[in-house]
Amino acid sequence: MEQKLWHQMNADELQQALDVNGSSGLSSEEAGKRLEAHGANELSEGEKISPIALFLNQFKDFMVLVLMGATLISGLLGEYLDAITIVAIIVINGILGFVQEYRAERSLRALKKLSAPTAHVIRNGEVVQIQADHLVPGDIVLLESGDRIPADIRWLETNVCYVEESALTGESVPVNKHNQAIYDASIPLGDQKNFGFMGTMVTRGTGKGVVVRTGMHTEMGKIADLIQQTESMETPLQHRLEQLGKILIILALVLTVMVVVAGIMHGQPAYGMFLAGVSLAVAAIPEGLPAIVTIALALGVQRMIKRKAIVRKLPSVETLGCASVICSDKTGTLTQNKMTVTHMWLGGRVLQVTGEGYEPIGQIVESDKAVDLKNDQALRRLLQIAALCNNASLAETFQSESNKKKVKDEQQSTWEIKGDPTEGALVVLASKAGVTQQSLSSLYDRVNEYPFDSDRKRMSVQLKHQGGQLIYSKGAPDMLLDQCSYVLWDGKVVPFTGTLRQKVLAANEAMAKSALRVLGMAYRDLKSYEHAPTEADAECNLIFVGLTGMIDPPRKEVRDAIVTCRRAGIKTVMITGDHQTTAEAIANQLGIMQRGGLLYTGQQLAQMSDDELDNKVDEVFVYARVSPEHKLRIVKSLQRKGHVVAMTGDGVNDAPAIKAADIGIAMGITGTDVSKEASALILSDDNFSTIVAAIEEGRGIYENIRKFIRYLLASNVGEILTMFIAMMLGFPLPLVPIQILWVNLVTDGLPAMALGVDQAEKDLMEQRPRGAKENIFARRLGWKIISRGILIGVFTLMAFWLTLRVDWNSAEQLLKAQSVAFATLVMAQLIHVFDCRSSRSIFHRNMFQNRYLVFAVLSSIILLLAVLYIEPLQPVFKTVPLDLRDWAITLVAAGIPTFVMGIGSVWSGRKPRKTNTNRNVLVKSTNIRA
Ligand code: ATP
Repeated sequence: MEQKLWHQMNADELQQALDVNGSSGLSSEEAGKRLEAHGANELSEGEKISPIALFLNQFKDFMVLVLMGATLISGLLGEYLDAITIVAIIVINGILGFVQEYRAERSLRALKKLSAPTAHVIRNGEVVQIQADHLVPGDIVLLESGDRIPADIRWLETNVCYVEESALTGESVPVNKHNQAIYDASIPLGDQKNFGFMGTMVTRGTGKGVVVRTGMHTEMGKIADLIQQTESMETPLQHRLEQLGKILIILALVLTVMVVVAGIMHGQPAYGMFLAGVSLAVAAIPEGLPAIVTIALALGVQRMIKRKAIVRKLPSVETLGCASVICSDKTGTLTQNKMTVTHMWLGGRVLQVTGEGYEPIGQIVESDKAVDLKNDQALRRLLQIAALCNNASLAETFQSESNKKKVKDEQQSTWEIKGDPTEGALVVLASKAGVTQQSLSSLYDRVNEYPFDSDRKRMSVQLKHQGGQLIYSKGAPDMLLDQCSYVLWDGKVVPFTGTLRQKVLAANEAMAKSALRVLGMAYRDLKSYEHAPTEADAECNLIFVGLTGMIDPPRKEVRDAIVTCRRAGIKTVMITGDHQTTAEAIANQLGIMQRGGLLYTGQQLAQMSDDELDNKVDEVFVYARVSPEHKLRIVKSLQRKGHVVAMTGDGVNDAPAIKAADIGIAMGITGTDVSKEASALILSDDNFSTIVAAIEEGRGIYENIRKFIRYLLASNVGEILTMFIAMMLGFPLPLVPIQILWVNLVTDGLPAMALGVDQAEKDLMEQRPRGAKENIFARRLGWKIISRGILIGVFTLMAFWLTLRVDWNSAEQLLKAQSVAFATLVMAQLIHVFDCRSSRSIFHRNMFQNRYLVFAVLSSIILLLAVLYIEPLQPVFKTVPLDLRDWAITLVAAGIPTFVMGIGSVWSGRKPRKTNTNRNVLVKSTNIRA
């Protein structure tokens, strides 16, 4: 008999062929063996650049090649010492460049790994989450709406399961999957509805499948080469700096040529001038800039990871600093997502529930008396719905080592929810009254589920029970009431009249006002349906039973984070699927709602035109009962008003809004794969304050980049000007080529890197967000670079002149003057580097705060002293030891550029642009409500 293909097999044949049990999965041991045999479940990556190629790349730079040529000439002319030293400097420079780039590259790769996908599988009989690349054929995978299918799987079970396969088949309409065998051997991919293909996305429902192919053997693997479009990791700033680099190269070359020509015209030897020119060009071109920018970004990103924010797209690090609005989900992000049912409402009765956390210990109390469940049919029904229309479960875990074997020990056990916290709270509620899922499982058999999603805001299950069938539903009361024709009142099923509806709505409103999340419960007998009815058939003519209200306390740290945002000129907006009254109560508790601020509901949004929304959007602080598609409208409207928007989301349908936002943010814990993939930033703790921390880091990184750009460029301007002015004035060379190269290597590299990891200024989060289109040289950075550069150049030359004028004709005095100029240039830069740390002046910050910088500066000073005072080095670097008078000249000339400008800025009292905290206070006082 011919071997059947995967899609032709039924569930039993599949399990047999793959040697696995669909309920208990593979054992870890077996999975390990299969991983070795089949390899990792990953698509081969594009070409990686090898470390050797990266090292050799360092020497491909045009100017470095010219310098090498020049060195060769000096070698040929017998200047061996010069030649060897220059080669040594080039090699050290190359190694430094290599280390910088290699580190940058490695950090970027590590970043990609961090956001690597995971999968839920059954191993050893338990559901566990593993890295998707550890999947092996035979693994049993559980999937739900929002998951990306991690390997090629054959469905064993499906539940209203729709999969979007456009990545593979081009078909954008999601395909309804099933688990039946398909006998036709040669059907096309698009028709293999019992297959889930790697890389495609579950958009609705749930399913269980067995992995049949992994890695490059999957359908995606077959076309992997075609789809290897790695996302650009270059930020707009990096791109602009690259352009700037090109302009600077041309400028440096032009100036260098002018220096050389002027020097030769004033009688300098051509060869010496040529070497000086090339060295100057090498020094003046900020070749290290791109690598330092990448390192600053990568290290900043690592700091963000420590603060629980994972950056998926590097460009967003920059955008973070510009964010002017954060649109945040409520549940889980602003609140703890630790739900506990505290109140119930049943046909006019108000009940309270005692007990805290997930421990199923507590009482249901009515008028201070415990309710007797036996005689309370309505309450029993409500608790059954709570327990059965539910996909979460409650588990007791034992913490201490000795108790791992599940020895019952009350003290050391904790209760955990597996699944959605809202549903978990309902399981706990039912368990408190003894209505456990275990006790019900033998009596009720689930045949169908109509899953929850954020548009429907309800969920139902079809159950077999005592020969009949039932529908149990739960959901947002306003979405459920429309489906109910009857209500359970005083133990009887009565028509759901307008008056009774009003009573339910009033009870709902009262619970919501106390910031409770409210869910309604309803049911019906399903006599006339033998088979699965459609969603619309099932969820109609329901009998309304009652309401449950659960608390979800706000996260403690969020209030402060919102205050920080306000001071930083960032507006916080809450967008939630929850009821408007609940949303408003929480918004008030957290300080999100401002005086005169507005609350809009999804219903109101639906009735507004884009223009109307644009007119109001700045005044709205809370959007309630919204559907995911509203989020996209809100983002777009805010963007039209010139805002840079950070937007959070977790569900499948949130992906378009996350993508459209300037900074799309997904939830690490509760987020779906789809939302994560659309996002630029993932919060590994789902916490709002993490967004604020990320913004702070984003601002800090950008400022650090500005700091070392300022340092490097001002230093380069200083170096070029020293040479340029000297040549124009007909002076001898103030710096010899080796000295120029030395300055470039020692003084520019290390301190600039230390600036890249500098601490932020104290008032970083008290300034307005910078404009998205702001030029890197804005806020007077360009002026600072030019002014400090000119001063450094002029005073270096002044020191040279002061020393040389003692005896213009002595070669010895020239050596001394050059040594003084060299020391002045180095010291001026090393003093200026501290000035670069502050947007105001050197006097505004503690000089010793950045230890790396102190270390870098001290090392540079020690190396300078070595070059000046260690005898064997003196002929190499053409230096002579300096005496006290020389040092006096050097230090005064080196200090003036920074200190004079510092005193100037203290005197003029210049301050950074602070946020006007009143900016968010609105004049309007109308509060629009549904
Ligand atoms: P946010 O967008 O802030 O996270 P949310 O999580 O409160 O909002 P949804 O999850 O869309 O928003 O829930 C909206 C409403 O749907 C809730 O107020 C609740 O009444 C109802 N609901 C939530 N979860 C379920 C569920 N598992 N089954 C049935 N109804 C639910």
